[in-house]
Amino acid sequence: MQFAEFAARATEIEAEPADLETVALVADLFADAGDDLPVLARFVQGRVFPAYSERKLDVGPRLCREAVARAAGPNVDADDVEDRLAETGDIGGVAASYDVGGQRGLGAFTDGDDDALSVREVYDELAGLAAAAGSGSEDEKVATLFGLLTRCETDAEARYLARLVLGEMRIGVGEGAVRDAVAEAFDVPIEAVARALQVSNDYGLVAATARERGVDGLADIHLEIGRPVKAMLAQAGSVADALDSWRAAAVEVKFDGARVQLHHDPAGETRVFSRNMEDVTAALPEVVEFADAHLDTAAILDGEVVAVDEAGAPLPFQEVLRRFRRKHDVERMREEVRVELRAFDCLHAAGDDLLDDPLLARHETLADLLDDTDAVSELIVSDDPEEIEAFEARALAAGHEGVMLKDPESAYTPGKRGKQWLKRKPDVETLDLVVTGAEWGEGRRAETLGTFLLSARTGDGYATIGKVATGLDDEELADLDDRLAPHVRDEDGQTVDIEPAVVLEVGYEEIQRSPTYSSGYALRFPRFLAVRDDKDPADADTLARVERLAEKQS
Ligand code: ATP
Repeated sequence: MQFAEFAARATEIEAEPADLETVALVADLFADAGDDLPVLARFVQGRVFPAYSERKLDVGPRLCREAVARAAGPNVDADDVEDRLAETGDIGGVAASYDVGGQRGLGAFTDGDDDALSVREVYDELAGLAAAAGSGSEDEKVATLFGLLTRCETDAEARYLARLVLGEMRIGVGEGAVRDAVAEAFDVPIEAVARALQVSNDYGLVAATARERGVDGLADIHLEIGRPVKAMLAQAGSVADALDSWRAAAVEVKFDGARVQLHHDPAGETRVFSRNMEDVTAALPEVVEFADAHLDTAAILDGEVVAVDEAGAPLPFQEVLRRFRRKHDVERMREEVRVELRAFDCLHAAGDDLLDDPLLARHETLADLLDDTDAVSELIVSDDPEEIEAFEARALAAGHEGVMLKDPESAYTPGKRGKQWLKRKPDVETLDLVVTGAEWGEGRRAETLGTFLLSARTGDGYATIGKVATGLDDEELADLDDRLAPHVRDEDGQTVDIEPAVVLEVGYEEIQRSPTYSSGYALRFPRFLAVRDDKDPADADTLARVERLAEKQS
């Protein structure tokens, strides 16, 4: 398919307000996609590669602006692009606003159909771009984008190319719409598509399989060692909630660590993935060594990596973060912070997917695989609130965060935040908020950012809720400075505008109504607790949760 055709369809989809019609248009696109189906199943969501893929474009707004400015002709500079962007906030709209296909603007180098961009070419070029690394790679990336943009013949091509590169198509097509469209286009049940997506996370594979092999083919898609799936998540809940819903509760320690999914291939390697499906194997050599020593069959385990002291007692979450995702000095840090695996679930063992097995059976398999070592979560099944409370008191006394309550019969549902797993945290709830701005420090700290503007997620953006300046030492300030620097959008005197990228966990004494911030709320005495390295802005807390917490406290 020509990229211009895809862009024209995307324009139509973007203009369609009704969900059902949107799904129908996406289904038409898939039905007409030919060989490009796998790529288009991702492009409509603003993705170039499958979510689990290690390949990333790593193109930020700055590089994209540079490429648009260059492609827009000799009279346009990055400032001009930035000015237009400031008005609309949409890089696609800005790219499309430059005389596309004209004599001097974007598309000036096209000369008819022979040179027209195809979907395949866009994908291949972007795949090449993702492979660029090392010094000079930024220039290479800008050059590739420039090359693609100059070949756009329509403003729609420029619009969706620029948006695709930044990972946001803004055409109202999310994972659910793609799932439904695959079902509609190839006449297979939505449930079959949903299950295949849960175990593969690969929209391209699922769409192509639905088309070529129908429902039987979808049923043949299984978990694969080395291909992570989304983690099952928990809701907040009480012992009463659990015992009202189930005949008894499976009660486990709630570890204060970082979520991991461990994939072990007895003939190959062990790989460890974060909750965002990022490969963090290199940062956690002792977890890999442990798995290699204890597992002698193919397995996918779900659990947490925790930091422990010499006696094996848990250390606070902040300590794990010093190890998690670390790319340099791993061996040196290994001396300073000891980490261990605490596994609580088993998704696959010895060639069998266990997702549909009851939780207790999966936990038994887990204990067998890991020889009942300390790495297996302790689990009791109880319908007695007193027994559960005693278990919780022991967990807290041992330094854990609290307990998890789980339905003993429940299946493992990747990516779902259902009622089968309840988290019971006795502490005051903290908030995970996105940094959207900052202010320079004062006095001794004038060289670093010192105050951070925090925002909660809303339906389509972020709403500010407070500023945090306490709880950070010099090292943490310097670290935050480094993390935020690449995301600075604009600076005006003391204040700095920052694009959403970094999530902070903050404590506070109270949530108040307040006209000061756009959310309508303010935090009293906010204090910094940790950088939530393991969360993207999309995982940050929502304004709806802030509202619920505010209500609960009054
Ligand atoms: P989220 O609910 O989005 O995961 P969060 O990261 O702040 O939010 P919590 O709300 O504290 O996490 O609780 C859920 C998390 O607890 C799980 O994602 C998992 O990482 C962790 N966890 C610790 N121990 C267990 C356990 N035994 N079973 C399941 N999850 C556990």
